[in-house]
Amino acid sequence: MITSGSCPIKRKIQPFRDKEVYFHWICVPLRSFLNRELQIDYPSTYSFDDILRLIKWLGIVDNCIRFDMDLVLNVADHYVLTPYVYPSSWPEDGALRQIISLLVVTNLGAAVLYLGLGWLSYHFIFDHNLMKHPQFLKNQVRREVKYAMTSLPIISVPTVALFFLEVRGYSKLYDNVEESPMGWPFVLLSMISFLLFTDGCIYWIHRFLHHKSIYKHFHKPHHVWKIPTPFASHAFHPLDGFLQGLPYHIYPFLFPLHKVLYLALYIFVNIWTVSIHDGDYRVPRPLQEVVNGAAHHTDHHLFFDVNYGQYFTLWDRIGGSYRNPSVLEGKGPLDCIRRLTAEGKMSTNGANANANGHTNGHANGSSTKSKEE
Ligand SMILES: [Zn+2]
Ligand SMILES: [Zn+2]
Repeated sequence: MITSGSCPIKRKIQPFRDKEVYFHWICVPLRSFLNRELQIDYPSTYSFDDILRLIKWLGIVDNCIRFDMDLVLNVADHYVLTPYVYPSSWPEDGALRQIISLLVVTNLGAAVLYLGLGWLSYHFIFDHNLMKHPQFLKNQVRREVKYAMTSLPIISVPTVALFFLEVRGYSKLYDNVEESPMGWPFVLLSMISFLLFTDGCIYWIHRFLHHKSIYKHFHKPHHVWKIPTPFASHAFHPLDGFLQGLPYHIYPFLFPLHKVLYLALYIFVNIWTVSIHDGDYRVPRPLQEVVNGAAHHTDHHLFFDVNYGQYFTLWDRIGGSYRNPSVLEGKGPLDCIRRLTAEGKMSTNGANANANGHTNGHANGSSTKSKEE
């Protein structure tokens, strides 16, 4: 049996209280890994404290397992930053060191999430026929990626300020279900309230960004893409991107939220943001009236002042900006391409019959008309 006395790394550790979650997600995979790879003869029956000692001995986790930026930062510190980057004299909990590390981790995480999810969606979900649309721009994908990759590092600066406050313990994030006000029901409830809170906030922030005195300065770059690809999902002016992401960061300062759930929701909102730009307009019929999917958001890009929502159509209905997606009425971008092709105004490879290549305008008056221009 490995004892705490054999731990090669001196780290403070606190006992887990949410045993079931850690048992299933950490202990069981860990035991199978140890048996298979390291051939450590670990007993099949063991106490939770034994596993804690083992985890501590392996130096995988310090100061209990933390799943939000704490965890990401701890893992980065343990495997890369402490052994290879920072001098040993610089303590892991030094404020400047934490800020620099958060900047690196946040930028890498944002790039991996954006490029990874965007690439997967672009190759496996996005309908490439949409690139034949007259309003699809020349070199659009490259321009979307370039714009997003320029903005994301700037957005990371104020974002890291909020992450820093979280790491320093100023938020209402908690580690264990037992710390939540009502146990598991509260965790489920906070998932719903996070979605409703951020959906409402983003709706009004988005509408604010469409105000005529603000729009052209900050939000217009996102509307350059009339027929967006998944890579348009994060292609925002830095202030626009930060403001629309702000509700995600504000929530855990206002309401208690489990750290695992926060990380899961953060990944989910990134997936969702990509998904409403992926050109896959299908939504299960019962949800079509309620969920703001790619069909709805495509109309936002095309018609400008409709369907501002993020996940749900609720606030568009309350705010009088709901528009039934043109895709569902047979008037979507793909219908437009089919019609132009049938009328002989576009060749099957997407070239305009009158002008080669894609254009930045409307083709023969047949494409959808934006109010914005
Ligand atoms: Zn907009
Ligand atoms: Zn968009």
